[in-house]
Amino acid sequence: MQQKLFLILNELCLNWLAFFGIITSRYFVICGATHLLCYSKVVNFYTNFCLPQKPPSWKIIKKDMELSVLCGIIFAFCGALVFIAYRLGFTFLYTSISKYGFWYLSISFVILLILQDTYFYFMHRLFHHPLLFKKLHSGHHRSKEPTPWTSFAFDPIEALIQGMFFVCIVFVLPLHYITLFTALIVMTIWAVFNHLGFEFFPSSFYSHWLGQWFIGSKHHLVHHRKYTLHYGLYFTFWDKILGTQDPNYNHNIPSNIN
Ligand SMILES: [Zn+2]
Ligand SMILES: [Zn+2]
Repeated sequence: MQQKLFLILNELCLNWLAFFGIITSRYFVICGATHLLCYSKVVNFYTNFCLPQKPPSWKIIKKDMELSVLCGIIFAFCGALVFIAYRLGFTFLYTSISKYGFWYLSISFVILLILQDTYFYFMHRLFHHPLLFKKLHSGHHRSKEPTPWTSFAFDPIEALIQGMFFVCIVFVLPLHYITLFTALIVMTIWAVFNHLGFEFFPSSFYSHWLGQWFIGSKHHLVHHRKYTLHYGLYFTFWDKILGTQDPNYNHNIPSNIN
């Protein structure tokens, strides 16, 4: 029994280390590439394509990087827990598509995003309570002008609570590993887009009957400037229903609103 426990702990540590490597490299590669593409004077995509904004401060970016590496340790721990639980047969994760069919792959993917968005909205709103904000969420708000580097900069307890969503969901919802993996990629890309600090897509996209339900860079930028609005992650659904969407919000407004 003791021997088995030791082997499990050993595997947990090895997986933790491996996930930390993957998560941290993913952060630096994706955020670094986006930074180069959007802010670098060499590529100059930012100034050609985007609205005027103060250049990002390296001091704040460095702080965001430090916090993101710390988050990497916590997210990696959550990833290792999921992996061990799967290997021991405790989760609803599955590998054979034929088990639930192709249709379930897409349905479960949408359900996963909606559940995560709901979890994030209420958790995020709670973290903005004056009693919790300083300890649990102020790290993410160091940057009033977010950059891609802010996308995974969270205080450690917030990172753990966010990561626990994935630890818990695999015990509740049957998910193919491709669905889970795709959701993690979508989450990464969406988080980076939400923190660009300027709008990437044309305003007509968000005026569209379908597009208006999606959160974009400018929507989240409002949250970094006005803490009491725009708590969602992917969709505007909860912000609209619960009255936390800025009533004056208009996708045509310039990014340097105050
Ligand atoms: Zn916030
Ligand atoms: Zn943010």
